[in-house]
Amino acid sequence: MTGEIKLTGIVLGSVPMGDYDRRVSLLTVEKGRISAFAKGARRPMSALRAASRLFTYANFTVYAWRDSYSVTNCENAIYFDEITMDPEKTYYGMYFCELLEYFTRENSDEKEQVKLLFTALKALIKGHIPLPLIRRIFELRALANYGEAPNVFECSVCRKKEDVKEWVFDVNRGVISCADCYRAGGHADNAYGSSQNSDIIRISETVRYTMHYIITSQYKALFSFNLTPEVLKVLERAVGQYLKIHVDKPLKTLELVETLGYNV
Ligand SMILES: [Zn+2]
Repeated sequence: MTGEIKLTGIVLGSVPMGDYDRRVSLLTVEKGRISAFAKGARRPMSALRAASRLFTYANFTVYAWRDSYSVTNCENAIYFDEITMDPEKTYYGMYFCELLEYFTRENSDEKEQVKLLFTALKALIKGHIPLPLIRRIFELRALANYGEAPNVFECSVCRKKEDVKEWVFDVNRGVISCADCYRAGGHADNAYGSSQNSDIIRISETVRYTMHYIITSQYKALFSFNLTPEVLKVLERAVGQYLKIHVDKPLKTLELVETLGYNV
């Protein structure tokens, strides 16, 4: 494909190239995640200077030639500057971008991931709910958009959906079972994992419902709820362990987030 195309998307990454240029990673509605050259983007008067900043959401004009892209223009940009003024929020935002670098591909339909990132960046700015909760909502929904949602909708053994107070989340299989089926399977109560490394996690109905909600909610209502510290702690463990199974390389920005000291 050769010629100019219009893409709507977000800058996931931006690195300097040569003396005056940048290479940007764009997560777009139309083309999935692409890498594009932004010529002259580091020159003081360049129209592409702002367009190539991390988190910028915009309508980009891109020139496509064979397998490469060059950004030629940017319109209707939203910059999310409030995030970059706060180091903690910046770490979280960078982590969300790095996670989506991992979960997205060129020429695949990444519309849902674009919506998720846009909504999450807005939630970081608003700051209505704790940053670690924003993180776990983002991680679980990104996994779901990637096609790896755990089945938290029914007991994997008896198919029960309701009237269960306590569940067991099997992290490796990505399924839940009700406590009765878990015990009937010959597991003693003390086999429930209590350490952070366990792959069998006891979750309450509140945690199960929260995971269900995160996977299915509309984006406008996704970051609109809060949890007690106890519930958040279990959600963090469940989502964190589940994510580790699906991300098989260390993420640099996750180390930055974890140095913030919020984590369970
Ligand atoms: Zn059951």
